Amino acid sequence: MEDCIFCRIVARVTQASIVYSDEKALAFMDIQPVNTGHVLVIPTHHASRLAELDEETGAQMFRVAMWVAESLSLSRVKCEGVNLHLADGEAAGQEVMHVHLHIIPRFTGDGFGIRFGHHNRLKPDKKELDKVALDIRKSMS
Ligand code: AMP
Ligand code: ZN
Repeated sequence: MEDCIFCRIVARVTQASIVYSDEKALAFMDIQPVNTGHVLVIPTHHASRLAELDEETGAQMFRVAMWVAESLSLSRVKCEGVNLHLADGEAAGQEVMHVHLHIIPRFTGDGFGIRFGHHNRLKPDKKELDKVALDIRKSMS
């Protein structure tokens, strides 16, 4: 626990601006928001990666994220839309190794963007898509 900043927040050892709390999930303000109103939702029990998270807690995190997103749109925060973002693993940009879901309020012209431009896109044919789908499907069973 001592090593994990988010576990310290759950234990109320480190301060945070808490938005919501229940047995499975905690929502609090990101200390370096992309836009005002940027919230993080975390599991109350430590899990470094998604693979370590139990499904019911994952479902609860998503529920809380939906409530926060709705509440943001009803609040005075400038929020015309919302991005949900979860980085799972260092290669995906995860910096704090305690699972967290970002809820980022968005508005036109905010200058922030997760963009998937044409240059980021592969152009697989249907055969290739089917092959990869089969591979993933097999891993699911
Ligand atoms: P990620 O890059 O997805 O791992 O995001 C980690 C996020 O945690 C960043 O947006 C940080 O600003 C945020 N963060 C780190 N420490 C704290 C803290 N003590 N309280 C609130 N947010 C934090
Ligand atoms: Zn932790």
